[in-house]
Amino acid sequence: MGEVMISEENLKKLYINGCDIKKNEPLKYYTSFRIGGSVPLALFPKTLKTFSETLFKLKEYNIPYKILGQGTNLIVSDSDLKFNVLCTKYLNNLKIEKKDNRSLVIEVESGMSLSTLSFLISGWGYSGLEFACGIPGTVGGGIYMNAGAYGGEMKEVVLEVESYDLKNNTIRILKKEDMKFGYRKSIFQEGNLVILSAKILVEKDNQEFIYNKIKEYSTRRWEKQPIDMPSAGSIFKRPKPDFYVGTTIEELGLKGYAIGDAQISTKHAGFIINRGNASFEDVISLIEHVKKIVKESCGVSLEVEPQIWR
Ligand SMILES: Cc1cc2nc3c(=O)[nH]c(=O)nc-3n(C[C@H](O)[C@H](O)[C@H](O)COP(=O)(O)OP(=O)(O)OC[C@H]3O[C@@H](n4cnc5c(N)ncnc54)[C@H](O)[C@@H]3O)c2cc1C
Repeated sequence: MGEVMISEENLKKLYINGCDIKKNEPLKYYTSFRIGGSVPLALFPKTLKTFSETLFKLKEYNIPYKILGQGTNLIVSDSDLKFNVLCTKYLNNLKIEKKDNRSLVIEVESGMSLSTLSFLISGWGYSGLEFACGIPGTVGGGIYMNAGAYGGEMKEVVLEVESYDLKNNTIRILKKEDMKFGYRKSIFQEGNLVILSAKILVEKDNQEFIYNKIKEYSTRRWEKQPIDMPSAGSIFKRPKPDFYVGTTIEELGLKGYAIGDAQISTKHAGFIINRGNASFEDVISLIEHVKKIVKESCGVSLEVEPQIWR
């Protein structure tokens, strides 16, 4: 990759084309952990067309960048960053298509809040996305991570994704079977495809049944997770189906253990929270400490779930 900064002339072109631009922007304001140094440029395309065109231009200018959704699955270095971000926050449109008497296909842009979408669809009496009612972040981030909860996963509801192929500068439609979905995995993690929009299938169901599921999942989340504190969600992936990371960390006496302001949540030991001014190093040191103790005590190697940007 070349220079991090785009020339003033080219920035003006991006702006005129529908991309908001902020220079020297601190990412701590864009991450749920409230940690993150400044990027030279944060770019905010206002339409899908501008998004694609900006992706094309960034490649042409040879500019390093990352795609930013709502930053709820990120651990970002608090040093000055040597890449820019292209943020999907304005890409919120959706179209509804009736598939048959029972089902709807929702075509949604990648920046839409997944949890808002879940509540909207459930409110119309359609089932399928209840599992996502409390998953923070965007539809794009949810597909990238194959986000899931309470037995549901994105791969079950996503029919199709419209993506931008960075290798060939083309728009590519991917079907479910093309997306290599696995536990917190998708083809998008390979780095060549950016999610522009997705088609999601939902089915008509009993309104009260749907409402009760949402109520149950939200209650469980509120009672068990520190959702009112800055965090990046579960810090480790589940290494095998019957291995509960939070319970293990708790049994090893690490609940509440802290390095600086990064602390193993006292509510759910699978979460690290920022109880004030935690630094990137505090979080990384705490992760390493937990990994070491779990490896020594249980012989299990834990893998970090959020993406680490440095
Ligand atoms: C309190 C809390 C609870 C959580 N609970 C859950 C849970 O129950 N289940 C679960 O699975 N996760 C959970 N998470 C993690 C997180 O919410 C999900 O992973 C979410 O899907 C991330 O979406 P995002 O928009 O915030 O992505 P970001 O954090 O912004 O980005 C994550 C990755 O996705 C990439 N990305 C984002 N958008 C696109 C795009 N359009 N195209 C290509 N790449 C893209 C980014 O480049 C980055 O690599 C939780 C997090 C928190 C803070």
